[in-house]
Amino acid sequence: MWHRDAVGRPLRIGVAGAGFSGAVVARQLADAGHTVVVHDPRDHVAGNCHTARHETGVLVHVYGPHLFHTTSSRVWTYVQRFGRFRPYTHRVSATVHGSVYAMPINLGTINQFFGTELTADEARDFIADRAEPGDPATAVTFEERALRTVGRELYEAFFAGYTFKQWGIAPSELPASVFSRLPVRFDHDDRYFGHPYQGLPERGYTAVVEAMLDHPGIELRLATPMAPEQVAEFDHTFWTGPLDAFFAYRDGYLTYRTLDLVLAVADATDADDDRQACAVMNHCDVDVPYTRVTAHAHFAPWERHEAAVQTTEFPRAHRPGDIEYYPVRLADPAARTAAYLDAARSVTGVTFLGRLGTYRYLDMDVSIAEALHTADVAIDAFATGGAPPAFVVDVSH
Ligand code: UDP
Repeated sequence: MWHRDAVGRPLRIGVAGAGFSGAVVARQLADAGHTVVVHDPRDHVAGNCHTARHETGVLVHVYGPHLFHTTSSRVWTYVQRFGRFRPYTHRVSATVHGSVYAMPINLGTINQFFGTELTADEARDFIADRAEPGDPATAVTFEERALRTVGRELYEAFFAGYTFKQWGIAPSELPASVFSRLPVRFDHDDRYFGHPYQGLPERGYTAVVEAMLDHPGIELRLATPMAPEQVAEFDHTFWTGPLDAFFAYRDGYLTYRTLDLVLAVADATDADDDRQACAVMNHCDVDVPYTRVTAHAHFAPWERHEAAVQTTEFPRAHRPGDIEYYPVRLADPAARTAAYLDAARSVTGVTFLGRLGTYRYLDMDVSIAEALHTADVAIDAFATGGAPPAFVVDVSH
């Protein structure tokens, strides 16, 4: 187990944000004997992972699809302390010019797209011939890495349009790491993620986070944003809200993408309804204004519902007041990001973590792993009268 017992004086800890990062750090510190007050501006926990029952009964991923997958046995074991996760393997289809393909690109996608019947080895050579010269590993931008990995035809069909719609900038301005989120396969594996641990919480993420925060040492203040000045009320604060918000946006707004999610309900008994037969359909053509459609009932295949609830995602530029979804670090003036990171390092009594607090594109499992590590470091530091630094993890990229 990873319970660390607090040695010395129990502290009063403030946490800004009740998403996974804030909830994990709060729970670990409460388990170690500290008193924790968690604040969140919204009226629910779990941040953008929030799940809620729609009036039709379908469990909806309110801020878009969130699939749990990890390589970390610590994270996998940890989340299951707070709710049952049921086996779920995510599969995605992609529509390109009216045809539906398996996504990520696999042997079937390649053969269907090129009208070939290649074996795995033949397909490797075939794609190698089409790929642009250069080692994908040393590519700097999304576009470079994509062209060196799959070549121009597949890049333009599956990635260029989707990525431009998703990020609002050319793929030549995005880091290569974004392309590497998806594998390219030369077999018929059609799983979206290759990670050994995959599953979805039976009662949704919000129930998991509620269980994390259900501790006598934790006070939860919903619909209550934590103001930066409130750090004075606590022995130490963990800030998982936007990094620039902590500094009242004094150097300008960090660049984010936000999403407009349009919800539609279809009658499951109507043969003409437009329900899609898969959980997520990506739409890669640049002239289709949305990126993907999620049919939420697929995320709880153990439930039965009369209706189908779908959300269609329209990414757009984030404006002040919008929900932050995707940090666009490369597009942000480097000086601005650096200014906020430096400012954070000069603050004492505050540790910044999470997707918004460190301004990094983190998956749920990485956020949880980093929150567990941050809590370990903090508990050890507090035990000897010290405090954790502004950033416990590497936030340089
Ligand atoms: N992507 C793409 N075409 C697709 C799916 C993904 O070009 O059909 C690119 C796009 O740039 C996206 C990135 O791959 O932002 C990562 O995709 P992922 O599904 O991991 O994004 P998320 O679920 O975090 O939005």
